[in-house]
Amino acid sequence: MAVSHLECKECKAEYPLEALYVCERCFGPLEVAYDHSRSQRDVGALRRRIQGGPQNIWRYADFLPLAGGPPGPSGRLASRVGLPAGCTPLIRADRLAERLGLREVWVKNDAANPTHSFKDRVVSVAVTRARELGFETIACASTGNLANSVAAHGAALGMDSYVFIPADLEEQKILATGVYGTKLVGVRGSYDDVNRLCTELCAERDWAFVNINLRPYYAEGSKTLAFEIAEQLGWEIPDRCVIPVASGSLFTKIAKGFQEWTELGLLEGETPKMNGAQAEGCSPVASAFAAGQAVCRPVKPDTIAKSLAIGNPADGPYALELARNTGGSVDAVNDDEIRAGIALLAQTTGIFTETAGGVSTAVLSKLAARGDIDPDERVVLVITGDGLKTLDAVRDTFETYKIDPSVEAFESSVPEAVAV
Ligand SMILES: *Cc1c(COP(=O)(O)O)cnc(C)c1O
Ligand SMILES: [Zn+2]
Repeated sequence: MAVSHLECKECKAEYPLEALYVCERCFGPLEVAYDHSRSQRDVGALRRRIQGGPQNIWRYADFLPLAGGPPGPSGRLASRVGLPAGCTPLIRADRLAERLGLREVWVKNDAANPTHSFKDRVVSVAVTRARELGFETIACASTGNLANSVAAHGAALGMDSYVFIPADLEEQKILATGVYGTKLVGVRGSYDDVNRLCTELCAERDWAFVNINLRPYYAEGSKTLAFEIAEQLGWEIPDRCVIPVASGSLFTKIAKGFQEWTELGLLEGETPKMNGAQAEGCSPVASAFAAGQAVCRPVKPDTIAKSLAIGNPADGPYALELARNTGGSVDAVNDDEIRAGIALLAQTTGIFTETAGGVSTAVLSKLAARGDIDPDERVVLVITGDGLKTLDAVRDTFETYKIDPSVEAFESSVPEAVAV
C-alpha cells in the first residue's frame, strides 16, 4: 500500500493518517500523500492488475488512502463491503456533439451510482477509512446528494448516521435520505450555516463527519472518476473535462487522478483543460476566475442548483489555480440556462440529469458557442446526479396532451409527424 501520510497543502507539514483535516501550524487543508516509489513500475502488469479487479471503485484500491485491513487474502477486502460505487457508463454522445458543433463529446454518467450521484465514490472511501479508524457513527453536512449517500452507507454497513441538511432542500432528496433510517436534521439556514454547525459538533463528538474530519480521505474518492474515464478511453487522457463545482473538491481531484496515473506511467500526456461549471446564483469561483483573483469572495446562494450551493468553497483557490494552469476556465450559467442544459442532455442522449448536470451541460454549450473548444478536441462532460432528484426543475417545461380514449380525440388533439 502506497499511502504514506497526511500533508498540509500549504506548508507541507506532515501528519499521521488519522481523522485530521486542518494544519495546526497554518490552518491549511490536509491532503493524502502517497509514496509510490516501491510500486509496480511495469505498466502492463499494473493495468492487468486493475483490469482484474472488481467492477467498482475498489479496482483502484491501490491508489486510495486505505490500509485495507489486516494482511491476508480476505483481509484486504474485508473493510470494503457496503455499497459498491463506480464503473458508471462513459457514453459517446454524437448527437449532443453535433448540436454543439463539436466532434467528440463523451458523457460520464455518474447518476448511475447506488444513490444516483457521484457522492457514493467519496462516501465509500471516507466510510471505509472511518471503519478502519474505529468510528461507529458517520455524519455529514450536505447540499443533498451527500445526505442520500451517507444515509445509505450507514444502512448498508449497520452504522449509525447523522445527516445535516439545509431545511429547504428539494423534497425528493429529503425523502430519498430519510427512508434509510438516518437521523435527518434540517437546519434553518444555508449550507454554509450547516457546515459551520457540523464543524462545531465535530470537535465535540466522536463521529466521522465524512466531509469534515474525514475530508482528506473523502476527497480522494473523486480520483476514481478520472481513473475510470482514462480506463474507458483505452488508457488515454481526454483533452478537456467539464465538471460542476461546489466546494471544488471533485474538480481538483479529477485532475489529481489523471496526474497520479501519469506519474506512474499508466497514462501519457497533459492534464486535460479543466472547465469548472457553476450556477450564477452561487458562483464564487467563476466570479474570482473572471476577475483574475486567486481567492473567492463568499456569497449567499440563490439558485435551483442546490447541490452546488456552497457559498464559501473550501477548494476554491485550488480550483482557480487548476483552471488557469490547464488553459481551462470556470464559468457560470443562470437558472434558465440550467433548465435548457437539462433538456439538451435529455433530448440528445437519453440521460436525465439533476440541476448540477444541467449546469455542466450548459457550460459546455457556452464554451462551444464562445469558440473556446477546438472542434477536434475529445471532451468529457461529467454528469454527477440524477434528474429524478430535482423534478421541479423540469415542471411545466413541456406539454401533456390530455384526451378522451378515442382515435378521433387523439387525431384532433395531437400533432403527428408527417413522413417525408
Ligand atoms: C457534491 C456535488 C458536486 C461537486 O461537489 P464538490 O463539493 O465541488 O466536490 C457536483 N455535483 C453534484 C450533483 C454534487 O452532489
Ligand atoms: Zn500548514
